[in-house]
Amino acid sequence: MHEMSIAQNIINLAENAAREAQAQSIHCIDIQIGEFAGVMIEALEFALQVAVRHTLAEQAQLSIHIVPGQAVCEDCGLEFPLSQRWALCPHCESMRYTILAGDELKIKSIQVDTLSESEGVQHV
Ligand SMILES: [Zn+2]
Repeated sequence: MHEMSIAQNIINLAENAAREAQAQSIHCIDIQIGEFAGVMIEALEFALQVAVRHTLAEQAQLSIHIVPGQAVCEDCGLEFPLSQRWALCPHCESMRYTILAGDELKIKSIQVDTLSESEGVQHV
């Protein structure tokens, strides 16, 4: 399952970051998923619940944020919302545009519990 490997990847990254910070556990993980990143959110949520077992993230609060698609047309410069990867500029119908947002799949932030401080924030 596609979402399972994504979930394991996210948890691995989070654990590495937590170990680097010498954290005892991961407090929360904020995940950003683009509107057309090709990820089924419900499947990912389920996969994450499985992937955190016996890891530093076992008790972590996982929040998934959907990032709306946005693009800028290279011909007329219009910025427009993009709900799928392939579209036409609504103004000039150009196919040449740059995706600004909507295809991301990343960890926005991780909060870990460390020994030295009561709480530390690690960005990856
Ligand atoms: Zn245009």
